[in-house]
Amino acid sequence: MVCERSFVPAAARRKRESKQAYGTGSQEPVGAPNATPSGFPAVAARTRLTGRTEGRTPPREATTAGAPAVLDTTAQLCQSPSTNPATGLRNRARSKYLTDGLMSGLTALQSPLRHSYASTVRCAAMLAQDGPALTGKYCGQRWCLVCNRVRTAKLMGAYLPEMATWAEPHFVTLTVPNVAPPALHNTVRALLAAVPRLARAIRRTDGLELRAVRKLETTWNPRTRTYHPHLHLIVSNRAAADALVRRWMVEFPETDRRAQDVRSCTGTGAVKELFKYFTKLIVKGMDGERTAPPPRVLDTMFKAVKGLRTFQTMGFVAPKVGRDDDALTLDATTPAPEPQRERVTWEWVGSLADWMDYGSGALLSGYEPPATMRALVERIRRDAHDAAQVAR
Ligand SMILES: [Zn+2]
Repeated sequence: MVCERSFVPAAARRKRESKQAYGTGSQEPVGAPNATPSGFPAVAARTRLTGRTEGRTPPREATTAGAPAVLDTTAQLCQSPSTNPATGLRNRARSKYLTDGLMSGLTALQSPLRHSYASTVRCAAMLAQDGPALTGKYCGQRWCLVCNRVRTAKLMGAYLPEMATWAEPHFVTLTVPNVAPPALHNTVRALLAAVPRLARAIRRTDGLELRAVRKLETTWNPRTRTYHPHLHLIVSNRAAADALVRRWMVEFPETDRRAQDVRSCTGTGAVKELFKYFTKLIVKGMDGERTAPPPRVLDTMFKAVKGLRTFQTMGFVAPKVGRDDDALTLDATTPAPEPQRERVTWEWVGSLADWMDYGSGALLSGYEPPATMRALVERIRRDAHDAAQVAR
């Protein structure tokens, strides 16, 4: 989806202002490589669906203000860069390489989620190839960037046919003031509990039609060491979107109106943005360099949302796409770049950032992490190690 251009400067200004009181820190979404630094979907949908993703700022010439809003067809929406097997595998290798780095600190914690973290280390660690198809076991965890790629595609396939019928979709962000770690668990529940109640009031009292998809997201501010749980929604029409913000302000009177956001969107960029990630797993450290939040911070966030739905539809029923929490194991089959005459087992080798056939020494994806990616993963591992030393 593409936000109306005329809206962007004011929105960006408000976002900057609101950060002072409700700052999410200078965080970058790695799960959503095409997102803008603000995390808002300010950019071109079709480019996102077909362009390369790594670390690039997408072009902003997607639309012109006043141009008719054209909703893509479902067929167009479901196009994915991963339809090319080689590209898809390289993206998967990149996701796995980065996820390995993130897991290095999490698996060392004495956490009730440690078995779930261990399952992510095993995610797609072996890919069996029979002829043209690769089969592997996937962990399904919400912090796994490999599985999030699969999940994004599934969610979009399930929800887009309905959302493409909405005449004036709006992207809504609802926030509350940042909270300290002990308050995160209950705050998240308060946000989620409020939404269906407000939706009911909008339908019954305001008499408005409301269909929406909502996503729960949590970010962390390294400067204030606080959490920022918030909701993103795509709402079917402007009147309902405005009513939602109005009622949100009544429900959470301590929140700041400037930290709430409503913007028109057309196309698919915002939808893709919505489905991409649960939390921004890469932040800027105190020295301005990119790294991951400390493992204990991530663990607190993941524990706070365990068992809760990241995504929820309202006013319509979408096909089942499976739970987005733990205990989900996907047996996925994907096309291989090169067919093989014999059955081949490809094993993930972290240091090579690729799957290897130990029989022939061949590498599956051909992915080579650029120097910036290697530096990021090394930094994440080092910081996780240092955080563990401090905690001792
Ligand atoms: Zn996984």
